[in-house]
Amino acid sequence: MSDVILRLALPSPLRRLFDYRAPANMAHKTLTPGMRVRVPFGRREMIGVLVEVCDTSEVPAEKLKPASALLDTVSPMPAALLKLCLWTAQYYQHSLGDTFSWALPTLLRQGEPAEMRQERFWQMVPDARLDDPRIARAPRQREALQTLAQHPHGVAHALLSKLGLNKDSLDLLLAKGLVQVEVRRHLPQARHEHWLAQPELPLNDEQRTAYDAVRTGFGGFHAFLLAGVTGSGKTEVYLQLIRETLEAGRQALVLIPEINLGPQTLARFEQRFNARIALLHSAVNDRERLDAWLAARDGEADIIIGTRSALFTPMKRPGLIIIDEEHDGSYKQQEGLRYHARDLAMVRARQENIPILLGSATPSLESLHNAYTGRYGLLRMNQRAGGARQPRFMRLDVKSRPLDSGISGPLQQAMGQTLAAGQQVLVFLNRRGFAPTLLCHDCGWLSECPRCDARMTVHQRSGVLRCHHCGHEERLPHHCPQCAHVDLRPVGAGTERAEERLKILFPDYPVLRVDRDSTARKDAMQQLFTTIQRGQPCILVGTQMLAKGHHFPRVTLVAILDADGGLFSGDFRASERMAQLIVQVAGRAGRAEEPGKVIIQTHLAEHPLLVQLTEQGYFAFAEQALSERRAAGLPPFSHLALLRAEAHKPGQAEGFLDEACTAAERLLAEQGVQGVELLGPVPAPMERRAGRFRAQLLLQANARAPLHRLISAWLLVLEQMPSGRQVRWSVDVDPVDLY
Ligand code: ADP
Ligand code: ZN
Ligand code: ZN
Repeated sequence: MSDVILRLALPSPLRRLFDYRAPANMAHKTLTPGMRVRVPFGRREMIGVLVEVCDTSEVPAEKLKPASALLDTVSPMPAALLKLCLWTAQYYQHSLGDTFSWALPTLLRQGEPAEMRQERFWQMVPDARLDDPRIARAPRQREALQTLAQHPHGVAHALLSKLGLNKDSLDLLLAKGLVQVEVRRHLPQARHEHWLAQPELPLNDEQRTAYDAVRTGFGGFHAFLLAGVTGSGKTEVYLQLIRETLEAGRQALVLIPEINLGPQTLARFEQRFNARIALLHSAVNDRERLDAWLAARDGEADIIIGTRSALFTPMKRPGLIIIDEEHDGSYKQQEGLRYHARDLAMVRARQENIPILLGSATPSLESLHNAYTGRYGLLRMNQRAGGARQPRFMRLDVKSRPLDSGISGPLQQAMGQTLAAGQQVLVFLNRRGFAPTLLCHDCGWLSECPRCDARMTVHQRSGVLRCHHCGHEERLPHHCPQCAHVDLRPVGAGTERAEERLKILFPDYPVLRVDRDSTARKDAMQQLFTTIQRGQPCILVGTQMLAKGHHFPRVTLVAILDADGGLFSGDFRASERMAQLIVQVAGRAGRAEEPGKVIIQTHLAEHPLLVQLTEQGYFAFAEQALSERRAAGLPPFSHLALLRAEAHKPGQAEGFLDEACTAAERLLAEQGVQGVELLGPVPAPMERRAGRFRAQLLLQANARAPLHRLISAWLLVLEQMPSGRQVRWSVDVDPVDLY
């Protein structure tokens, strides 16, 4: 019996490792952390990741089970990735096994060999003859052999049907020894001599300064924030820094927000370089993802581009990390392992000792704070690269003005003038559907969702009421469900209603709607953009899908129908998000020759943050917002963690959180810690959602270390608490959304 104990991270929510005995035939092999091991777990089998090899265990010898199989001969994970995962699990107070589940490609988690795809190729054997007597009377086999004869390098199995090759005929030919099957590794493309496939643009002075600053930081850890207005040419700076990285024989990792995944962004990278680009995003299937991951790990991909989780892609020769639109909300994962890819990228750059560049026209207050305090180099670009001018802002007070489906009279006039001048108008409204609520004018009934504390949205075109929080759907009623009268009226306006109204107001111009409903069909988005690029006067109505990254040269008027949500909200980050959205949407205007104008409809025209933003720009706004955060002791001037709980019965979640709160107070007293405050528990802002009652407990601290020390001891207590069994709970370190 061996004394070799394997300490494994298993895909379980429990924050601990699991010991197994190494079977005799495994013990003599070289065991290195990161190797995958198949083990029995309860009545199932699981695949774990080896963290440590020990010679003793706290588990009594008779209870220690042997592992079933070792899946790797070498660790598929380079040491650097293992280190990053360990750091992640510890910082986010998450189970290490589950951290691996989020960080590794699905196929690796499922036990697939860590190897590039193997493909079977069908080939005619060299001395086979088309007039072989054995197939003289088998026309289909003869035909198949003829087809193969035209492909001397063989035909990949997956392409057989495309070439009209029939598997039965091939099997018969194989039996006669006329064809052969060869298994080959799916080879990556060869590497190119010249990295540039397209000439670079000569950098302007601002771009040159930014580029030089980052380049000087090559060869070690340096963090930069590139704060450049929309159209200032940030992407061109990224591209030239990537070229520099490739020339140094290194790889570049580029993270982009989910919403920027359009073919436009990727095309710019692909057109510029003769390089092997690995793509890792939601539209890539599991096999392609593993191949891209392996290519990056083995240095066979030069540029790795992906969304949030691509952060965990290993690189053989890491050289540079770029986070585009670093303020974007999609970098924070809102389920399971609640990590922030931008923050982890910073950790990774430090661990790998390479430079990192965060870019945005509207940097997050966190990153700006880091730049102002000198932790990041601050690079500003204030001019639009193509020579286009910055748009002008106008706050349109709609306090006592009638709104026609959300559109005021003066706005209508401005739109009419722009269209008449042959230009395009963009109308931004961050609400899908026809109207956010249906109201009975007789009895006051409102279309409330039966499962949430929220109203169902009217979707006129599909004839339904739909809850945007839980997806619940009902047929649009003809009569009031409460009083049976027929005077049901939609209240407020969504994109569908604005579209309908604009078609009536401007019958001579096309009105194009861009939101998740109108672009659900594949290619719908691309078709819309093709129409827009043609440049005829038209009106675009849409949600934040319109706000990101796109280039609409003929749009000269941007109308923001409702900016007030961000100024009223109880969430302390709402105003920051509103400002970012306004500036990003405004950035679509006047990107070419004509200057742009942005009209913001608001009931709070004199709100200081809105005034600051529209008169002095985003950075003035950010400084004001940062000083408010400082005064209130909010991030980035303090650190937060949120314990969320939800349960089927009212009161259960609060009951659990009350107990959790008591436990935390006891631990704080034991640890003698100062400066950690417990706020709550309180019901979540939307207490009932999808039929569950939700509550939360906020932890606020002026330093990270005591907060983390408390949480790690606390979670072990929570895992044991009986009241925790009836609720679903999770901890969120550095929460972004406080609900
Ligand atoms: P950002 O990423 O900051 O929004 P882009 O890199 O997309 O800006 O650049 C905006 C426009 O300006 C693009 O059409 C781009 O081709 C052009 N551009 C960028 N840099 C230069 C330059 N140095 N000279 C001329 N045009 C440029
Ligand atoms: Zn609902
Ligand atoms: Zn009614």
